[in-house]
Amino acid sequence: MKILVLNSGSSSLKYQLIQSETEEVLARGIVERIGLPDGMLKHETASSEKKETPAEIPDHDVAMDLVFKALTDSQDGAISGVSEISAVGHRVVHGGEMFSEPTIVTNETLEEIDRVSHLAPLHNPPNIMGIRACMRLMPGVPQVAVFDTAFHSTIPRHAYMYALPYNLYADHGVRRYGFHGTSHRYVSRRAVKIMAERGVDTNVLKMITCHLGNGCSMAAVVGGRVVDTSMGFTPAEGLVMGTRSGDIDPAIPIFLERDLGMTPEQVDDLINKQSGLLGVSGKSSDMRDIEELAGSGDKRSALALEIFCYRVRKYIGSYAAAMGGLDAIVFTGGIGENSSVVRAKTTEGLEFLGVRLDPEENRTARGETDISRADAKVKVLVIPTNEERMIARETAEIMSRETVSRT
Ligand code: ADP
Repeated sequence: MKILVLNSGSSSLKYQLIQSETEEVLARGIVERIGLPDGMLKHETASSEKKETPAEIPDHDVAMDLVFKALTDSQDGAISGVSEISAVGHRVVHGGEMFSEPTIVTNETLEEIDRVSHLAPLHNPPNIMGIRACMRLMPGVPQVAVFDTAFHSTIPRHAYMYALPYNLYADHGVRRYGFHGTSHRYVSRRAVKIMAERGVDTNVLKMITCHLGNGCSMAAVVGGRVVDTSMGFTPAEGLVMGTRSGDIDPAIPIFLERDLGMTPEQVDDLINKQSGLLGVSGKSSDMRDIEELAGSGDKRSALALEIFCYRVRKYIGSYAAAMGGLDAIVFTGGIGENSSVVRAKTTEGLEFLGVRLDPEENRTARGETDISRADAKVKVLVIPTNEERMIARETAEIMSRETVSRT
């Protein structure tokens, strides 16, 4: 079946049309600058070049309409009509405690997603707009919500609870949720498959998945189930990121407000947009720039790189302790897949755990690669993530289950 995968942001909408049986990408693209001047649709298919079409795009309905026109275009399209699409899989960032599985969207589901929107105010509202646009424009086609938080729903209470007054959890949902779940799920499943092919008992496999992109998070996964993850109530907790601080003393925001007179909005902006690699280096949030600057002697960029890698290393140690052992580490995301420097620095000094990189494999890794030495106890794998493929898979699975249960 043909599954349309949508990732709907506040001003952009990314899509892929995927043939679920072969996982071939039939078409992909992005609508940019929704609600802003100079809107643009970028579209390509397996057989046609990328085409850029400027357009007036006031809202998500118009954006979706453009996507359908591009998909069904007689020259650059991939299908003859929208009726060829069996289902749409939507990335939804926050599912709260309600959703631990992909879910077919009904009006009640939408209300529930809306109810937890305060937990992801930048993400859930545009996700909902994308779903609503599809419901309007393709009535009768099932819409499936695939939640970023869902893979983390197996985290035990002692790991997801904060040591705050209990009523903050009970009344306001203040707890660790975790994000990047679709990516952690995809790469951990791939790693389980790779290890199973080597005869490893994957039911007890202890693995750490490191998604290092602009946003960064790690997950501790035992037997395919997450037991802890570094992002928390919001995606600001945990690792150092492009512009986010990750873990800090909770008293720092109080200091910023009380002693430096900052407003909550300014503190929010500081922690989420002015910190991380950008904040420390003062130059860039992009790891390629940071590595280049550090290499040419820029001290603060070198420091940013050190802090970034040290934090990942510290989490590897703590997750090995949380799981009572370690069999595999997986690197993914733009940095995890491409930076041999970061992979080397984050695993340096972990020989005591059984981690030993093969420097040549690490330097030349392309696609799925085992970069550990053959005799290393802990396998270190690079696995390119593919969230769209995972969303298409989960959407196809739920559709097949529905068909079976109806027959
Ligand atoms: P997002 O989280 O927005 O999906 P990506 O997963 O694409 O982002 O990751 C973006 C990050 O990956 C940036 O910091 C970028 O510098 C980094 N990156 C991409 N290629 C390389 C590379 N060859 N070496 C180091 N970092 C890289």
